[in-house]
Amino acid sequence: MKAFHHPDEAQHAPDFFLMRGRVRANYEVPARAASLREGLSALGITPETPPPAPPAALLSVHTAEYLDFLEHAAAAWAQLPEAGREIVANIHPTPEMLAQSSRRPEHVIARTGAHTADTACPIGPGTWTAAVGAAGCALAAADVAAKGGTAYALCRPPGHHAYAARAGGHCYINNSALAAQRLRAAGAKRVAVLDIDSHHGNGTQGIFWEREDVLTISLHADPSRYYPWYVGFAEEKGAANLNLPQPFGTGDDVWLAALADGIAAIRAFRAEALVVPLGFDASDFEPLAALKVTADGFARAGQAIGALRLPTAICQEGGYNVEILGRLLERFLTGFGEAA
Ligand SMILES: [Zn+2]
Repeated sequence: MKAFHHPDEAQHAPDFFLMRGRVRANYEVPARAASLREGLSALGITPETPPPAPPAALLSVHTAEYLDFLEHAAAAWAQLPEAGREIVANIHPTPEMLAQSSRRPEHVIARTGAHTADTACPIGPGTWTAAVGAAGCALAAADVAAKGGTAYALCRPPGHHAYAARAGGHCYINNSALAAQRLRAAGAKRVAVLDIDSHHGNGTQGIFWEREDVLTISLHADPSRYYPWYVGFAEEKGAANLNLPQPFGTGDDVWLAALADGIAAIRAFRAEALVVPLGFDASDFEPLAALKVTADGFARAGQAIGALRLPTAICQEGGYNVEILGRLLERFLTGFGEAA
């Protein structure tokens, strides 16, 4: 299997993370990529370096205003008196403000509030360069899938919480959405996105909310007590989406049964190509451990998804236990390869 990783991704090395009122170390760190590369190496796979994503591709799922903010915010922030190293919002426009506002935000602080959903997406000097490199990996994987193959994109920062005009939850550019859109542009009439990260793929759902040609499925922990809190519930119905929230503590068998429901939906949709936003934070070994999926569980998930025998772009999303990430990737891809 081909794989892609861009060295520029290491330029995103965030510090800031706010949890339950405490500032602590961010865990979406460059060491994650090193662990995942070890997993690839164990399979004899050396990732290729693709070109960074070109502007036209980014504009296929994001707004021009948002991309301009992401690219230039760090320089504007650095001009502020006593600025910190990273951009973190201290205000977001409320629905009441938006209903009455008459001006587009111009100051970097106002733009930050408008273009970020939460405090979990700090923007540092290297974030834009890293995100564009990661997006290039997703596009390269989609190009392999467009020719009927399967490829893995080692994307970091991840992407599935990013909306068309908003960063959030460690995500800036929605790599999986870019891959799905690229597959549509390459001729696949219907594309399915099967997200198995433990968090709801809210950005991807949002980007394709009104689209009948892209089915977004997300298998994740119950958002009534987990990020992204406001969406990810089973009753949400866009033009083509399916949410499969699972109770906290769900283990392999129940999780895989829900995955089978997602796979059945993909067959019913008659998808011609597949994108898999692949997170490992459903693992039993995660620091947050909302779900209890084992390494065997990820291998079985790989088998089940591979058995669809669809052209597939696999895009890395979350998973934060650096000690075990590579092993989980190795098991998932091995399972996928056995079935495909
Ligand atoms: Zn996640």
